Amino acid sequence: MDVATNLGTIQNNIRQACENSNRNPDEITVIGVTKYVTIERTKEAINNGIKNLGENRLEGLLEKFNHIEDDVKWHFIGTLQSRKVKDVIDKVDAIHSLDRLSLAKEINKRASEPIDCFVQVNVSGEESKHGLEPEDVTSFIKEIQKYNQVHVVGLMTMAPHLEDKERLRGIFKRLAALQYKVKEKKFVNAPCEFLSMGMSNDYEIAIEEGATHVRIGSNLVGQ
Ligand SMILES: *Cc1c(COP(=O)(O)O)cnc(C)c1O
Repeated sequence: MDVATNLGTIQNNIRQACENSNRNPDEITVIGVTKYVTIERTKEAINNGIKNLGENRLEGLLEKFNHIEDDVKWHFIGTLQSRKVKDVIDKVDAIHSLDRLSLAKEINKRASEPIDCFVQVNVSGEESKHGLEPEDVTSFIKEIQKYNQVHVVGLMTMAPHLEDKERLRGIFKRLAALQYKVKEKKFVNAPCEFLSMGMSNDYEIAIEEGATHVRIGSNLVGQ
């Protein structure tokens, strides 16, 4: 399917999810996840109005970054090894996978200006998922206030692939509640006003529960 058709469907679904939850579709940023696809296909997405792109590996990011001149925002959404921070830091607009102190420290060291970060949370408790345990999030963000270059703009989670929609909804609700709690603390360097949650399988539910950034790969550009 061409990207235009896919995007049309996604935008309709986003409008519907916003209507269901009394939200404004302008609050939602669609991050086109291009990790599975070619530079050509990525350019097709850009030509159809996608302005935010997500990559989960350094190699994929560099390949796209070096071949794409358009004015787009890059989001690093995958697990980030500390030794690779120096290679991504000056290319991306946001890092969605901040999940440990050593990484915050390295980002702080390498960044020449404050960088937007989402703290990744393992809400579902699955072993295979990265991220902090929900109960550790507040103390983690409190601790990294000392890293001036690390700007915690929100929380991020990856939900497991579940058929049970109500369980999925419960995961998104928990992340939203946690984001609200952190925001209320008014920590230095942590406005924490955004929620990066929702992928091809579950973005409508995530939006109904407050997602501001949805990361969509397969349903937008294909696998
Ligand atoms: C691959 C990936 C996505 C996109 O997944 P789809 O199901 O293809 O939409 C979103 N977020 C992260 C962190 C990913 O690695």
